[in-house]
Amino acid sequence: MKRDNIDRVKTLIIEFIKIMEDSLSKEDLIMIINNFNTLNIKFKNYKITNFLFLDNTVGGYNPLNNTLMLDINNFESTIYHELFHVASSKNYLNKILISGFHLNKISLNNSKHTRSIGIGINEGYTQYLAEKYFSNKKYIMSAYRYQVNVAKLIEEIIGEYKMQSLYFHANLMGLINELSFYNDYDKVMEFLTQLDFLHRKLSYTNINLKEKNTIINIFCKVHVFLIETYLYKLLEEIKIYNLTEEQFNIKVLNFIEQIPIAVESKKVLYDEILTHELIEKTIERICITNDRKDVVKII
Ligand SMILES: [Zn+2]
Repeated sequence: MKRDNIDRVKTLIIEFIKIMEDSLSKEDLIMIINNFNTLNIKFKNYKITNFLFLDNTVGGYNPLNNTLMLDINNFESTIYHELFHVASSKNYLNKILISGFHLNKISLNNSKHTRSIGIGINEGYTQYLAEKYFSNKKYIMSAYRYQVNVAKLIEEIIGEYKMQSLYFHANLMGLINELSFYNDYDKVMEFLTQLDFLHRKLSYTNINLKEKNTIINIFCKVHVFLIETYLYKLLEEIKIYNLTEEQFNIKVLNFIEQIPIAVESKKVLYDEILTHELIEKTIERICITNDRKDVVKII
């Protein structure tokens, strides 16, 4: 049984590397080759711990010791997500770990994570890549729907090629710089922290009304950031490509339509997270301060 599993995982890894080689530039493949050369694979029966801790974990990757943990009973539908973590992780002397866009600073005394930023965007983008490259061939278990949604919109702002390249170089700073080109650095950092907050809260089953209102408020802040940043990007493009008012409006509407108006997670419904008023106010504020009164009335 174990032998069969190991052989199967090896086949899936070879297939994964082959597809990545066909899809990425040589530059973006450097970390993939290094990490897979020294990868350890372990199997675990997650059924027992999931039962005990009311969890539904089915795998994981630890960049500290480059070890991939897989569920002995069910790894085919989640392995691609984990392989992308392997492909995008860097370990700086066991002190700083960067997995894609997720940075972890390890405290020296007890090796517990002391500082962490970017887990929300990283999990979303990792799952997005797993679906993008493998869902036409395999069944990929659905995960982190909301984070995937946000990561896709961030990719739309930055550009597909650039975002992917930053991910495979574990270049969180690069991502922050790219977004800071369009919006304030502080707002970019706030956005990443807020998405991390939502990432944690969306896994909770027990949320009281007060907490729920706080979470809805954070959803709204994330959405304002997305709209704001996209508008700033378009205002730059107007200068470069001479976009007409109509082209501008269509692009803004297409972008906003991809932001969810409600999210359900662990049987908790978060609604009113993207209201008409919020959209209108954000557009008005950005366009008026940028002297684009002609493009204010788009909704
Ligand atoms: Zn993950």
